[in-house]
Amino acid sequence: MTATTTHTSSRFGFATHLSCRECGATSDLGGSHACAECFGPLEVSYDLPRLTRAQIEDGPRTIWRYAPLLPVPPDVADSANTEPGCTRLTRADGLAKALGMAALWVKDERGNPTHSFKDRVVAVALTAARQLGYRVLACPSTGNLANAVAAAAAKAGIRSVVLVPADLEPQKIAATAVYGGTLVPVLGSYDDVNRLATELAEEREDWAFVNVNVRPYYAEGSKTIGYEIAEHLGWRLPAQIVVPVASGAQLVKIDKAFRELIALGLVPDTPFRVFGAQASGCAPVSAAFKAGHDVVRPVRPATLAKSLAIGNPADGPYVLDVVRRTGGAVADVGDEAVVEAMRLLAATEGIFGETAAGVTLGVLRRLLAEGLLDPAAETVIINSGDGLKTLDAVAAPGTLPEAIAPTLAAFGAFEASLP
Ligand SMILES: *Cc1c(COP(=O)(O)O)cnc(C)c1O
Ligand SMILES: [Zn+2]
Repeated sequence: MTATTTHTSSRFGFATHLSCRECGATSDLGGSHACAECFGPLEVSYDLPRLTRAQIEDGPRTIWRYAPLLPVPPDVADSANTEPGCTRLTRADGLAKALGMAALWVKDERGNPTHSFKDRVVAVALTAARQLGYRVLACPSTGNLANAVAAAAAKAGIRSVVLVPADLEPQKIAATAVYGGTLVPVLGSYDDVNRLATELAEEREDWAFVNVNVRPYYAEGSKTIGYEIAEHLGWRLPAQIVVPVASGAQLVKIDKAFRELIALGLVPDTPFRVFGAQASGCAPVSAAFKAGHDVVRPVRPATLAKSLAIGNPADGPYVLDVVRRTGGAVADVGDEAVVEAMRLLAATEGIFGETAAGVTLGVLRRLLAEGLLDPAAETVIINSGDGLKTLDAVAAPGTLPEAIAPTLAAFGAFEASLP
């Protein structure tokens, strides 16, 4: 019997209700994201099925192999959607050597359809939007989400509307526009764009803002990163993981995924420590962690790591809960260290990650230097996006050497001039 034949015919699979992360109040699965009692954020709860490793391994080579653990119908793989997931987990021996670490892996999210992990969350949000009868897929975005929403809506044959800060990287804007749909540059920071989207979501009844009104479903998509890491390691958990933090949802959901796998008996119950990475120019969660606060005070972002530039992170307090419970930490690094780390990842592993990867690797180095992370314990870091979308960070114009004539003599002279 396959996993899917054990399903009920529910539109949301084994998901049973939404529950408030603050007060625990429950509500029906629907298009709401805030608790009616206390305005706290809602989360999808499940009556998780018994599931075997073999059932998962027999599934499609996409995130839908984990469909029974997501708020999606059993036949989800048959619907028009992008097909994210099953990205590489690369053993990073060269990087480990450079850092003096014993065992290091890079979860390389460039392999997704629009080259970032955002395809995972959007694929789940699109599915939920369909089940709930929305007709337009929309989002406020720091760039990668805009790409993912525009692509998924194109594939699904529905309209998309994406709102982005007007000062975004040109590569990200171009990569969104190519899918069609409506692209709206907005004067202001991501937090301004997000506020506008929240107001629009109240007004436009048939628009699903993936990270606003269908956010509980959207966020669940990030669990698949955690499932994949465990599966690729041969059904076990890494001892340490370093995750970039913008809203904080990705980090919180990787922790949720690891705990679900333990609860389902799919991995041994081994301890794991979760670490969060921010850019110093937008480090509200790191600042709260250092100060020992439970509350995250909003900041105005100023960093080249634009995909992480959320000054008022929705999941900030839950990131603090996860890192404190698991014995991890949140730390931050400046833009110079971000660029240096992007170059190090490329030069040691042949992986050109985006600025967020520079933040994650930069923070790994800082955590090692501060003795907060164990160099002897097996560690995974997330490369959440593609460096080709943030080229400006590493390629200043005019950095190419002068061109040579197509002759052996010219090549000889060029070689002799190398340092
Ligand atoms: C959105 C994004 C993140 C952060 O995700 P959150 O779940 O909001 O914390 C990390 N890296 C990249 C490349 C992103 O686009
Ligand atoms: Zn509540």
